[in-house]
Amino acid sequence: MDFEVTGSLMQSYNICKRQVWLMAHQIIPDQEHPYIEMGRLIDDISYDRDRKKINFENVVIDLVRNDNGNLLVGEVKKSSKAVDSARLQLLFYLYKLKESGIDAKGQLFFPEERKKVDVCLTSEAELEIINAMKDITDIINKYKAPSFEKIPYCKNCGYKEFCLS
Ligand code: SF4
Repeated sequence: MDFEVTGSLMQSYNICKRQVWLMAHQIIPDQEHPYIEMGRLIDDISYDRDRKKINFENVVIDLVRNDNGNLLVGEVKKSSKAVDSARLQLLFYLYKLKESGIDAKGQLFFPEERKKVDVCLTSEAELEIINAMKDITDIINKYKAPSFEKIPYCKNCGYKEFCLS
């Protein structure tokens, strides 16, 4: 199967490997799911002043700022509960930028919690991303989705109906 690793896949990778497979195989989640709607709304209203959504290769970056001469790349999230997944997603963007010769700093924004988290592409983080990309490729190339295992995240997942039916 032809595909490129995206930030969304990287984010899902940290949550549920089955979700990675379903997304990559273009199985459409329930768009009316309240958490998806809420995510969209926050996306629309937050950080308007700085907001610049940019597309870069297969990467969509939420927010870019000039931070005293340094490029600051941001991701806006609804809640810090899934901060590890959001961190991996942002590291992936920083990695893709670096591959193109652009050094940037990262920051996660949680507007509802008025919280920010710095994210830095260290050499360990770079290795983590490379390994995650390999693992994502292996998951997606499997003939079948990883089997369903109920996890706490399922109740907020757009694939809930699909997995539980
Ligand atoms: S409902 Fe649960 S098992 Fe299914 S894709 Fe979502 S998180 Fe994974």
